[in-house]
Amino acid sequence: MVELEPWEELAEIARKYVYTTIVNVSRDIVDYFTDLAKATDRMEMGGFLLGKHKIVKGILVVQLYDYIQQLNVSPEPETSYQFPTGSYSEIKRLIKEGRYSIATWLHTHPDDSYFSVADICYHCLTFRERLKDIFSPIDPREIPAFLVTGGEIGYVMTYTGVYSYMLRYSSGDVEAILVFPIYRPKSSSQYVINLPEKMKERFPDYEVCHECADQLYYTSIKVSRLEKLVPSPTPAPAPVKMSISDLINVLRDDLGQAITEGKFDIARLLDKLISMLQRREIDKEKIHEILFELQGLGYSMEKVSIIIESLRI
Ligand SMILES: [Zn+2]
Repeated sequence: MVELEPWEELAEIARKYVYTTIVNVSRDIVDYFTDLAKATDRMEMGGFLLGKHKIVKGILVVQLYDYIQQLNVSPEPETSYQFPTGSYSEIKRLIKEGRYSIATWLHTHPDDSYFSVADICYHCLTFRERLKDIFSPIDPREIPAFLVTGGEIGYVMTYTGVYSYMLRYSSGDVEAILVFPIYRPKSSSQYVINLPEKMKERFPDYEVCHECADQLYYTSIKVSRLEKLVPSPTPAPAPVKMSISDLINVLRDDLGQAITEGKFDIARLLDKLISMLQRREIDKEKIHEILFELQGLGYSMEKVSIIIESLRI
């Protein structure tokens, strides 16, 4: 069961930034985006992002926390993405079953290129129509589409037309929350500034797409910035495989004369064993064998018991 973030708190963030819609992307999805950016090769990939939504005191709060990948059935998968037949009915079924209440789509670009005019037109025309079928014609619940790029830099972008909203990539850790208000930046790249014109050239008959390109709201964030939200745990060093006799030799060398002369230096031996445990040179199971061997070297059961007790094994 997915643990959602408190709806009220998310609504409060939106209110603070004077937005009436907030889209919250869960830590798992942020993690997934960073993996996806690295996984893109020549082909575009895609699928659906799913979650739940609520209206909290007039603010639409959306929480996206799941992803379903779909095949790319485009005849030109290197440069475009197309959903297979039946993928929307699957989403419709999941929503009807109550597992989710909201959906949007995602696709990837193998390089770092922006969303194309075809991407925008698909979102504002086709996807919007599909939503009416999934939800109801008067409640399409449109939220922005996502694009993950896998070029040299790697970006996660979102885009939609007509209405603005804010986006929040969540780490699940309050200290690392990234609030990212969305708007059409005044200092957009020439590519974005030229989009309305390009749209009219490419899709002259689709007024909805013209409107979307004219009033486009988009965000763009580097994958490296998202990675800071979900730092990957440092992998534990692999345990060094040592035989028991090697271990005894290590101990003997380390404790030197104390062992050969039968003088028991519990403190030094304990330190040694604990530091070997910490460096993962041995595991707890092996300690028993070591102690058994030590008994063979002449240490009394009593002293060995003291070590066992100290190590709590
Ligand atoms: Zn695209």
